[in-house]
Formats: sequence, C-alpha cells, structure tokens
Amino acid sequence: MSHENDRERLVEVLSRSDRVHRASVLEAIGTVPRHEFVPDNQTQQAYHDRPLPIGHGQTISAPHMVAIMTDRLALSPEDRVLEIGTGCGYHAAVVAEIVDTPVYSVEYQAELAESAQQRLDRLGYDVTVTTGDGRDGWPEHAPYDAAYLTCATPELPDPVIEQLATGGRIVAPVGTRRQQLIVAEKEADGSLTRRTDGYVQFVPMRG
Ligand code: SAH
Repeated sequence: MSHENDRERLVEVLSRSDRVHRASVLEAIGTVPRHEFVPDNQTQQAYHDRPLPIGHGQTISAPHMVAIMTDRLALSPEDRVLEIGTGCGYHAAVVAEIVDTPVYSVEYQAELAESAQQRLDRLGYDVTVTTGDGRDGWPEHAPYDAAYLTCATPELPDPVIEQLATGGRIVAPVGTRRQQLIVAEKEADGSLTRRTDGYVQFVPMRG
C-alpha cells in the first residue's frame, strides 16, 4: 500500500489549521512515507495526527508538531540543518525533503540511531545520524542555518547556540514541568531574539 490518499488527507487537515504557513512543509509531509517510520503494529495509525510510540520509551511527534516546528525553521534549500533527537528519523526525513544539503542528526540512544540511519538510507534520505548527547550539538559540521530539538530541555544548550550561523534559527521545546515551544534567531552579536509559540509536550532530554 502506498498510503498516498492517507497522506493527502493528512495534508488537508494540516492546511486547514492556520499554524503551518509554508507550502514546502506541507509538500514534504505529503511526500514522506510516515508508515515506514512507525512500528509494524502502528502502520494503520501512521497518518492520524497524533504521536505514536517508537520503542525505548520514545515517541514520534504528531505530524502537526513536526510541521509547525519545520515551518518555524524557515528553511531554504541551501540551509544546513542540525537535529537533536533523531528518534525514528521521520522529522529528519521531512527536513531532508526541503533542503538540498545533508541533514545532521544526533541521537542519544544507540539502537535508535542505528535503526534510523538504516531506514533513512533505505528510503534514500540524505541524513547522517550519530550517537551522542545532543547537548553538545555536533561541532564538526557547524555552522548551521537551523537547529531543532525534539526532546525537551530546561534551557537551550549553549553549544548548539554557538554552532548556529548568524541569522540561524533554533526551535525547541523548553521547560521542565510546563514546556513552551521556543523559536529564536541568532543576531550578529551572538545574542538570541526569542519568541514563544505555544505550550507543547515532549519527552525530556536524557543524559
Ligand atoms: N523527531 C523524532 C522524535 C524523537 S523523540 C522522530 O521523528 O521520530 C525524542 C528523541 O530524542 C528520542 O529518540 C530520544 O532518545 C532523543 N534524545 C533524548 N535525549 C537526547 C540527548 N541528550 N541527545 C540526543 N538525543 C536525545
């Protein structure tokens, strides 16, 4: 089954909400085979707009959350992107549909990192996954035009901010008990201009 109709319906639902503005994001959601990223017993639910378990106590975010976060990254095709928290690799695949450069992703849990890398390779996505603590970012491939975290952090990690280019964007769930989505841009003097974009619920960052 190609699930093309399921994806079309999902894109319709997302475009009716007024929270996703960029056509490139909707197009990417309409293209990435989410059913390939969820456990076999979850493929029927793959195109419902809700989070799903992916094992190891982790979840794949709901499609609307992936879409909103990707939207706020304001990506251009030439942008270099860092992801913290690969999970099953779905969000990275959505980003890889939009940019022409390799996407770099750091995952804490080795088994998740390995299976995500295999899956992304098999599906032909140019994403490089490494096992590590995302709080250190991934200095080798910096600077990044955009970075995002898919796990909640009490504060934006300084190394990730440092690895952002001037004008670079960072999107992350920030907070402990209550989390807010933070969208920030790095200014020429190295400071961040931040805004919040609603309350969210993500698994906490580990390590
Ligand atoms: N974007 C993912 C969602 C992943 S859920 C997807 O599309 O599937 C959050 C992920 O962050 C989990 O896989 C978790 O293992 C990972 N994570 C938690 N703490 C981390 C850390 N310190 N560094 C890197 N990844 C971390």
